[in-house]
Amino acid sequence: MYDFIIIGGGILGMSTAMQLIKTYPERKMLVVEKEAELAQHQSGHNSGVIHAGVYYTPGSLKARFCLEGNRSIKAFCDEHDIAYEACGKLLVATNEVEVQRMQGLWERAEANGLERSWLSAEELKDREPNINGVGALFVPSSGIVDYAEITRAMAQEFERLGGQIRVSTQVTGLDERLNEVVVKTREDEIPTHYLVSCAGLMADRVVRMLGKDPGFTICPFRGEYYRLPPEHNDIVNHLIYPIPDPSMPFLGVHLTPMIDGTVTVGPNAVLALKREGYRKSDVSLPDMAAMFANWGILKVLKANLRPGMIELKNSLFKRSYVEEVRKYCPSLTAADLMPYPAGVRAQAVSRDGKLIEDFLFVNSRRTVNVCNAPSPAATSAIPIGAHIVSKVREQVEG
Ligand SMILES: Cc1cc2nc3c(=O)[nH]c(=O)nc-3n(C[C@H](O)[C@H](O)[C@H](O)COP(=O)(O)OP(=O)(O)OC[C@H]3O[C@@H](n4cnc5c(N)ncnc54)[C@H](O)[C@@H]3O)c2cc1C
Repeated sequence: MYDFIIIGGGILGMSTAMQLIKTYPERKMLVVEKEAELAQHQSGHNSGVIHAGVYYTPGSLKARFCLEGNRSIKAFCDEHDIAYEACGKLLVATNEVEVQRMQGLWERAEANGLERSWLSAEELKDREPNINGVGALFVPSSGIVDYAEITRAMAQEFERLGGQIRVSTQVTGLDERLNEVVVKTREDEIPTHYLVSCAGLMADRVVRMLGKDPGFTICPFRGEYYRLPPEHNDIVNHLIYPIPDPSMPFLGVHLTPMIDGTVTVGPNAVLALKREGYRKSDVSLPDMAAMFANWGILKVLKANLRPGMIELKNSLFKRSYVEEVRKYCPSLTAADLMPYPAGVRAQAVSRDGKLIEDFLFVNSRRTVNVCNAPSPAATSAIPIGAHIVSKVREQVEG
């Protein structure tokens, strides 16, 4: 019998496990992960950005956890000798409409407690000779890191403190009883006093296994990237983001220096026809049937038809994709875009057809389930883990 089982070997599962074993060092704990290695899904397929917290609604969990996570993830890297770089981020306005939107972000960044400065076109050029814009918002606390490396370091810490990890173990069913939760896998049934689920793209399915109606569905959005050739590794000195277009649900294609020295372009956001579908050709008929029978998802798709079509066009044609970047980096051409692996975002959609913005948790007497944890959840992994531990403590002690 375990005291705690955690489903999911991504950054949230490992952050929670690491903090839970520090809180209850004498208790027996297990992480179960269906893949053969940790961080095989979102935590290993992302932009690697340590977000500062510019965009999020002041007072939301995202705003609070991102601000705190930005500091704590850097501190974790310092303690564990993991490379990161606080290179800062520039949000570049390319016309007057975007300057007005930048004003809104300027105010929001202040409300979220961030240090920031407003750069003129000349100041932008001084910092970034290859970037064109009429102005930019500079946020110094943004940075870059490898989240898969952080996930593995958290796992090492968990195991060092006595925790166990079982990979290649898929949870297929759950039974929450009065005094225990039975975790069913293909091989066996494992009883535990308490369960935490950090299942990313499968979050809603895990809640259903508990016999609950989750009230939301995960909608998988693939984020496709390109990499620039090595001669462009120094094309930018900071993270370069467009000013987000309020009619588009995600942040827009950005230029991201990676911690390994390369530069990626992306990600876009296209509906994935398979939950863990990393290639355009990946299709799952059961996943598609469930998606297109879901009223909430259909409503989201209908409301975002125009942006969805633009994203699809950019996904299919490199020339259109590169135009998104050429708005602020005109020297790049389609020939500069080299292949790079995609990621798939686990975005929760509510029953009434809204993309759920904030982080979302659904709890029962003996379980805590992470239900919506898209970006900036990697940045926020340590405060999210601490939040989960506080919920588990309420269940255990109160
Ligand atoms: C394209 C893209 C770019 C992003 N960029 C950034 C960024 O720059 N900065 C940032 O902060 N965030 C970013 N994010 C978000 C961030 O990557 C995620 O929020 C974070 O990794 C979520 O971690 P997780 O542990 O919840 O999920 P995951 O890493 O997806 O882990 C969930 C795990 O659960 C396992 N699992 C699921 N079901 C079962 C089951 N039944 N049994 C056993 N195991 C199971 C899966 O195999 C998986 O390993 C990005 C995400 C994407 C997709």
